[in-house]
Amino acid sequence: MPSRAMMSAAPMTTPLFLTLKTSSAALALSAMLALTGCNKPAEQSSADNAEAPTKSESAAADTGQTVTIYSSRNEQLIKPLLDEFTKQTGINVDLVTDSSGPLIARLKAEGKNTPADMLLTVDAGNLWQAAQDGLLQPVHSTVLDSNVPAKYRDPDGLWTGLSLRARTIFYDPSKVKPEQLSTYADLADPKWKGKLCLRTSKKVYNQSLVASMIEHLGRDKTEQIVRGWVANLATDVFSDDTNLLEAIAAGQCEVGIANSYYYGRIVDEKPDFPVKIFWANQGTTGTHVNISGAGVTLGAKNPEGAIKLMEWLSSDQAQGLYASADKEFPVKEGIDKSALLKSWGEFKQDDINVQKFGALQTQAIQMMDKAGYK
Ligand code: FE
Repeated sequence: MPSRAMMSAAPMTTPLFLTLKTSSAALALSAMLALTGCNKPAEQSSADNAEAPTKSESAAADTGQTVTIYSSRNEQLIKPLLDEFTKQTGINVDLVTDSSGPLIARLKAEGKNTPADMLLTVDAGNLWQAAQDGLLQPVHSTVLDSNVPAKYRDPDGLWTGLSLRARTIFYDPSKVKPEQLSTYADLADPKWKGKLCLRTSKKVYNQSLVASMIEHLGRDKTEQIVRGWVANLATDVFSDDTNLLEAIAAGQCEVGIANSYYYGRIVDEKPDFPVKIFWANQGTTGTHVNISGAGVTLGAKNPEGAIKLMEWLSSDQAQGLYASADKEFPVKEGIDKSALLKSWGEFKQDDINVQKFGALQTQAIQMMDKAGYK
């Protein structure tokens, strides 16, 4: 017998959000989103969006009318969107915010008794881990299938991407010409000795990047590259991408690898920030792209509501705002990007299924450890 979550919820057809786009309410919503950003600017290395656990939006007593989310995303970012979902569907949202690790630990401890219907977090590596721990249930939704390209969904329907983030190369244009840059692998070349900045290998973002390289290049070649990176480091690894980008601006290093939205947040405030973005691996496998995404918990009391919310977040109405709020990219194709993102130009994305980042995570961690990448 299929679980309730295996039934596809009806597609959302409410046009209210589009209508609101031109209204003052929508302008207020957009302004709020523009101000908040997804993660905290001073993100801690140990958390996607480190915040004290909070609970908001006291829900209706009837759980059939409520979706409870365990979320590692910044509450200020998603709350306006969730409010809009409630307005359109009458389904309340109970939001519990914490960083990814504690939320997954909590789901494990609670098992089937969890009050959570949905896990909302960043990085396919985290979602894969939750699925691996048996915390999520398969969802088969024709709406998600059509809105989210297959490479950004779990092949078994355990989780789906809802926005995209590119992890690419950044450089100091006063010292480096874009023609000198090409691939992540090239940053291992001795010509970058003493010039490279990297974030810690403890962060899942780098584990996912290295996992993708293992998939494309094999273990030996990837290990060689990671050793080359370590040999080229200008300074100790950074605890977050923002500090790394600031270090390039300060002349501490000439090149580095970071997620594009951290850069977007900085240049949004400082248009003259003296660091440029370079789309890595355009002549080869494409730039490494990861997701933020969600899955329905195994113990969900309202899986239909959770699916409806995931479908809504993947819709045209929500995609542009959900993604652009934190300078991320929409996961749905054909959605208009913000002027800032457009200014970075089009780029070829890696075609790898992001599920691989999880599957190769342990190998990636062991390899980075062995190669001396702290
Ligand atoms: Fe982040």
